[in-house]
Amino acid sequence: MLYLDNSATTKPYSEVIETFKQVSEKFFGNPSSIHQIGVQAEQLLTKARNQVASILGVKSEEVVFTSGATEGNNTAIKGVAFALREKGKHIITTTIEHPSVSETMKQLEEQFGFSVTYVPVDENGFVSVNDIENAIKEDTILISIMHVNNEVGAIQPIEEIGQMLKKYPNIIYHVDHVQGVCKVPLNIYSSNIDLCTISGHKFHALNGTGVLFVREKTPLVPLLSGGSQENELRPGTESLAGAVALAKGLRIATKDYQEHIKRINQIKEFLINELNNLDGIIVNTPNKHSAPHIVNFSVPGIKAEVLVHMLEEEEIYVSTTSACSSRKKSTSKTLLAMGRPKQVAESAIRVSLSYENELDDIKYFLSVLEKSIIKLKKVMGL
Ligand code: PMP
Repeated sequence: MLYLDNSATTKPYSEVIETFKQVSEKFFGNPSSIHQIGVQAEQLLTKARNQVASILGVKSEEVVFTSGATEGNNTAIKGVAFALREKGKHIITTTIEHPSVSETMKQLEEQFGFSVTYVPVDENGFVSVNDIENAIKEDTILISIMHVNNEVGAIQPIEEIGQMLKKYPNIIYHVDHVQGVCKVPLNIYSSNIDLCTISGHKFHALNGTGVLFVREKTPLVPLLSGGSQENELRPGTESLAGAVALAKGLRIATKDYQEHIKRINQIKEFLINELNNLDGIIVNTPNKHSAPHIVNFSVPGIKAEVLVHMLEEEEIYVSTTSACSSRKKSTSKTLLAMGRPKQVAESAIRVSLSYENELDDIKYFLSVLEKSIIKLKKVMGL
């Protein structure tokens, strides 16, 4: 079995699963209970929060545990929009965001009267700092930009946008860091970020876990009403085992990827070179400023889902566009935004690597890919 869909989700580390099990068994108390069992649970939650804060380089009070990045992105964007709606109703984002951002924007426009500017990207998938600045209006309250694009891996100029935003201190800056965390360094404070989303299952922790960084004093209305957990920003009894498992995964992944990132990058470059040499393949991942773990390419004429299933027959698992959109069988939104023709956008395959992949895996993948394409083209009479 060759799993190459790590941007959709990663296989949890065995240590993460063991931690989840042990915490569930031994620390089943409610962290809000005032007796000893509750206090012990609360202490463990604080420890996990401190560990996450130290790895992200932020304060413990700024770490809010969530159920994942969809919740994190919704909380960040709607939370600011509702908190600042009297001050302004204009928001800026890009045309290549994950649905948990773009659909949130759509809802704010259609149901709550906000206006959203979707800043376009260039042919390589990059947004420009100037275009973001030019989109700013008197009543702009929020800017939301993803760090690493989940489909093609383009790294956005997050730090530069943050520096530019120093001229506009009233605008809140949110970053979807889901595909960047542990793989592409990001300094939250020096990038002037107010809100930052990550998700546990993208770094070998568990799905259903995540963190939203909320900088001190950021105006934010909680999405849910209830108890005072998580600094009153995310009511509900915490998933203690999930939070501790997330901290464990983040610790191991930070170390693992530091050790392996050079090798993953070499594998990525090898794969891109080989794909460029194959007939009829277009590589969509930009040559420069792209994440080490994502390679996106198209085989125009062959529908992506057909190729995905053909590779699956050989137990190779890749994806079309992103997992969240691919069930809808839609063409790649990111590639269309990059100005690629429809044929390219509907035949896009994403390979996403982890620390577990070796060069030999990719050589095997390439040989199966080549044979599959020849077979399919023959059947289709291409
Ligand atoms: N943002 C990005 C860039 C993503 O890739 C994903 C996951 N596909 C999400 C947000 C949503 O994360 P989650 O699955 O934790 O809700």
